[in-house]
Amino acid sequence: MIKLTNISKSFGKHEVLHRINLTVEKGGVVVILGPSGSGKTTLLRCINYLEKPNEGQIEIGDFSLDYKHANKKDIHNLRQRSAMVFQHYNLFKHKTVLENVMEGLIIVQKFSADAAKSKSIEMLEKVGLGAKLAAYPSQLSGGQQQRVGIARALALNPEVILFDEPTSALDPELVGEVLDVIRKIAKEGITMIVVTHEMGFARDVSNHVVFMDEGVIVEEGRPQDIFGAPKEERTKQFLKRIT
Ligand code: ATP
Repeated sequence: MIKLTNISKSFGKHEVLHRINLTVEKGGVVVILGPSGSGKTTLLRCINYLEKPNEGQIEIGDFSLDYKHANKKDIHNLRQRSAMVFQHYNLFKHKTVLENVMEGLIIVQKFSADAAKSKSIEMLEKVGLGAKLAAYPSQLSGGQQQRVGIARALALNPEVILFDEPTSALDPELVGEVLDVIRKIAKEGITMIVVTHEMGFARDVSNHVVFMDEGVIVEEGRPQDIFGAPKEERTKQFLKRIT
């Protein structure tokens, strides 16, 4: 289980997140929805300490951390447990597909080169890229690059994968292949928090939906309730605009 408690974040005087509380069951898929600027990406980045929250705590299984007092070792431990998939893939351009996936295993998890290689090949096969091991990112489509990003996160065997708008940089015809991979790994029981604007996907993959606006959670619940019968006016307006 993952539990976030009272996460707040300001940039200067602008409070972007205000005391966010969220619990994700083991194997759960939580989708975060909300208008542009509501704080979704900042929340994911705070979870993984890519942004430092002003305050708040996280528990992942038996690991817990107070963001305000986190030291290097805590952050390393946090990142062993949570992997991020980025909107713009963030692959190393001068490394092959295989090397991109191996990197974290060798540097962060201290795998031997041989063990990192076999684990990486297994993960790349899982996302349908077993034939592209020697390719460079520039030789791949956006959808394939994002699947490398997913293989890289999966290889770390994290307790939760954080997806930050994983399909929003893709041409429409490439969105499906990436969503299919995320669906497949969701079915395998990997805990995920997904920021997305893909409503059909949100509806059928998630078991918990969170609607954020202006740095707070306005409403959360089961997908059938949030999409079928939202209670809050702001949620209703948002869903009306985008569906
Ligand atoms: P979108 O759907 O457009 O990606 P979002 O809900 O993910 O939006 P965030 O990217 O988290 O929103 O941004 C929330 C607010 O924080 C915005 O007002 C944004 O301008 C501000 N913000 C984000 N990052 C920074 C930063 N590094 N410095 C200053 N302000 C920032």
